Amino acid sequence: MTSSQRTRVLLVLLAVATAFLVFVTFGGDDEPVDTTPVRDFGVLATLIDDDDIQSVEFTNGSATVLATTVDGEEFRSIVPPGFTDDFTEILLAASPAVDVSTVNAPAGGTDWALLLRTLAPLALMILLVWVILARMSGGKRAGKKFTAKTRKEGNDIQEVTFADVAGATEAVVELGEIREFLSDPKRFQNMGAKIPKGVLLYGPPGTGKTLLARAVAGEAGVPFFSLSGSDFVEMFAGVGASRVRDLFEQARKEAPAIIFVDEIDAVGRHRGGGAGVGAGNEEREQTLNQLLVEMDGFDVETGVIFIAATNRPDILDPALLRPGRFDRQVAVERPDLAGRREIAAVHAKGKPLADDVNIETIARRTPGFTGADIANLLNEAALLSARRSKSAISHAELDDALDRVIAGPEKSSTTLSDKEKLIIAYHEAGHAIVGHVLPGSDPIHKVSIIARGKALGWTLALPEKDKVLMSRSELGDEMAMLLGGRIAEEMIFGDPTTGAANDIERVTAIARNMVTNFGMSPTLGLQKFGVGVGESYAAGTAQNYSDVIASRIDEDVQLLVDRAAEEAREVLDLHRGLLDRMAEALIECETLNKEDLGELFDGVEPFVPVRVDGPRGIDLRDRIAR
Ligand code: ADP
Ligand code: MG
Ligand code: ZN
Repeated sequence: MTSSQRTRVLLVLLAVATAFLVFVTFGGDDEPVDTTPVRDFGVLATLIDDDDIQSVEFTNGSATVLATTVDGEEFRSIVPPGFTDDFTEILLAASPAVDVSTVNAPAGGTDWALLLRTLAPLALMILLVWVILARMSGGKRAGKKFTAKTRKEGNDIQEVTFADVAGATEAVVELGEIREFLSDPKRFQNMGAKIPKGVLLYGPPGTGKTLLARAVAGEAGVPFFSLSGSDFVEMFAGVGASRVRDLFEQARKEAPAIIFVDEIDAVGRHRGGGAGVGAGNEEREQTLNQLLVEMDGFDVETGVIFIAATNRPDILDPALLRPGRFDRQVAVERPDLAGRREIAAVHAKGKPLADDVNIETIARRTPGFTGADIANLLNEAALLSARRSKSAISHAELDDALDRVIAGPEKSSTTLSDKEKLIIAYHEAGHAIVGHVLPGSDPIHKVSIIARGKALGWTLALPEKDKVLMSRSELGDEMAMLLGGRIAEEMIFGDPTTGAANDIERVTAIARNMVTNFGMSPTLGLQKFGVGVGESYAAGTAQNYSDVIASRIDEDVQLLVDRAAEEAREVLDLHRGLLDRMAEALIECETLNKEDLGELFDGVEPFVPVRVDGPRGIDLRDRIAR
């Protein structure tokens, strides 16, 4: 019987017992309820001793006696087991005056009912405690689920190998080494090398960390114990820690083996810092401590390697990250163009592509996408093609799938007034024109006033190449582009709407980052202001600067945002005619793609704003147009 089956049986028993108790307490209709009071056996004994009892009546086969006092009052009492046999003798010896008689049990079992009424609550209590205990230990047992997840060679339905992980070359190399360690530990030990104990995979969600770990399992040829961090976080104190202990014990027994804990941040969160004090926290700390102890507890000979994955390495407890624990930390980054090509190839397998689509175009059109995004894109495209009864995925489906993945599903339900449509058209045209004209912002690929996800309209700017760095002027242009929508609304309608909320949020974030993190403040120079989550051991030191600096930060942020707005206004003033034409085109076609935009932008020159940074008072509006 599994623990869940047992729990179910217990629950049924409990229900039956409760029903019975209710029945017994309130009695059946067909049976007169015995209302004689029940007294403790001790009371009866005392009363006999004091010669206050006139008679005692036994019932055959029952421990219950009916006693009558000298005052004529009747009560029942239960003779404790072991007492029954010599009770009569004791009674007679103690008080010969008592009239002792024995009767046969009456039909209907009133005595049973009495017994039950006395004992049932106790039994119920015991049952309850048993159920709770069983559930708790059942929970503990569930922690051993990982035995079921243990993977030994070849018994898995769909084996993942390194071949399924594309574009993560560094991570694959690193984990390939782990496989070598485990397959031939002697070779490394003979060189005096220590096999790493722990490997931490970190990177944004969807970059393939879990996939990589599964590939290691598929390739390693050793038992693989996998658990998610949240499996350790339990309601009951101490369960998490005991699970950790079990896990490592099991792995040690089967060594060489790999332990994989996904989303380790659920347990490995920075102790003491930040969120909440309380039982949950305490439990997590215990679990983490146990984890640290276990990681220290195995050595080179053990042959156990601990792999963990997280997308929040910044919030992990520093103790986890010190050498001797996670010796290897492998970044799993968003793939570059070559990586995306490989990933697209992996996920395009088994999906027929039309002639106008190839792996290269997919890779080029998806900068910033993770492996999961690309997999999702291709799946969406395949779904669309099937729905449209096509024989292969063509450019049109890929395009629609891309829009869907980037901006969310189309929302045809949104009904807009003509005025609103016009406002949205001008807003998006404003983004597009500023984005196109300023050289530092990414080329505009598509402009649409079809609502998708949360956006009423959207403008897609894609970088030509993968970018890892952004320059100050690019950030400035980006901000201006983001504000282009709002500025267009102001220019045309003089009465801006709420439609720019998200743009404004992003602009503010960029400006604040420029000042506090990137050393791009016009006046404050190359400093980092403020402490991020998990960056400091002491909680509550987010503001590590004086109030004077705080107000200067605010001023600089203001300066940057104002300047971006000014630039956007300047661009749109310059291209007022184009703005009208594009808005009109949007009203008519709803979506403008690269070719449409190419026509509209024909002959439009780039505009290079000159930004002179310095203390306030210097004219920052001095610009040239090239
Ligand atoms: P993470 O654990 O980093 O959040 P996953 O490993 O769960 O991401 O990835 C989710 C899915 O995305 C995978 O199942 C796979 O289909 C796809 N994927 C992600 N990265 C890659 C990659 N490098 N190569 C192939 N597929 C990938
Ligand atoms: Mg994952
Ligand atoms: Zn906008």
